[in-house]
Amino acid sequence: MIVVLKNNTPKAQVDGFMQKLRERGFEVHVSKGESATVLGLIGDTSKVEPEEMLAYDFVESAQRVKAPYKQVSRSFHPEDTVVSVGGNSVGDGKSVCVMAGPCSVETEEQVVEVAKAVKASGARFLRGGAFKPRTSPYSFQGLGAEGLELLKVARKETGLPIVTELMAINQIELFSDVDIIQIGARNMQNFDLLKEVGKLRNPILLKRGLASTVKEFLMSAEYIMASGNPNVILCERGIRTFDNYTRNCLDLSIVPYLKKETHLPVIIDPSHACGIRWMVPTLAKAAVAVGADGLIIEVHNNPEKALCDGEQSLTPAQFDETMKILAKYAAVEGRTL
Ligand code: PEP
Ligand code: MN
Repeated sequence: MIVVLKNNTPKAQVDGFMQKLRERGFEVHVSKGESATVLGLIGDTSKVEPEEMLAYDFVESAQRVKAPYKQVSRSFHPEDTVVSVGGNSVGDGKSVCVMAGPCSVETEEQVVEVAKAVKASGARFLRGGAFKPRTSPYSFQGLGAEGLELLKVARKETGLPIVTELMAINQIELFSDVDIIQIGARNMQNFDLLKEVGKLRNPILLKRGLASTVKEFLMSAEYIMASGNPNVILCERGIRTFDNYTRNCLDLSIVPYLKKETHLPVIIDPSHACGIRWMVPTLAKAAVAVGADGLIIEVHNNPEKALCDGEQSLTPAQFDETMKILAKYAAVEGRTL
């Protein structure tokens, strides 16, 4: 249930009211915006009528939440969530945050070179996989812990915070120092993993499952928030459809839908969405136009020799060109990169 309190309700009254609600067995989430304070009640609200709340004269309105997700819902938390990492923010409405780097970390030379290049072009985060979810057990599986160390070397050299995928609960300790932890499409419904990353405070970049509905996607984000981690970034990376002329089908309409339905930042991964290098810049422009808060783009210094996803990786020069164009598209909406 959502209970909206009138503006300027004295703090003591708000605290007393929340205390009463807690005594009745509800978990109470407060969202204090500029125009109103919203209380989100979680628990068995079936025995409470919204009208009962109106008996308090500082209550403006009360209503039941029909959606199965609560903490991710914009009705629970009307203000945008802004995820901040080392001076970079995702979801601030003013900028388009670009994360870029290789699909997989391969060597120190490779990751540092790509990191320097994407930084020079304006990327604000370095992406790179150390633990790779590969369809074939015979494909390169990533450098693992060594790859994480190389990402940290690149972070030190460039100052770029790092984004990298966590695949299993037993890797969590290794990730304590990772700026944004990615949960990949294949693990979107690994509920035990979601509960564990929910106990951390590192921001979580949650990618949409290969064939997940929006509701399933949001329920997965709810798992993370319900375990206590409010720093969730949603990432659309293309879904399976009946057609396979592209690797996946980029669901652009999910962006405005999610921006309305949730308060969480939404970014787009055009690289995995189409799987074809030449199409990536065009989809990136479209992502900016539909209001995405950011992009995550694969860039490799030698795509032909890449150990993973070379066919969809931009060269540093193509990335640089793309960033220049994206800056113009962002400017049309009064945003910067
Ligand atoms: C990736 O980002 O390299 C990746 C494997 O992404 P996804 O989980 O979206 O396939
Ligand atoms: Mn990849």
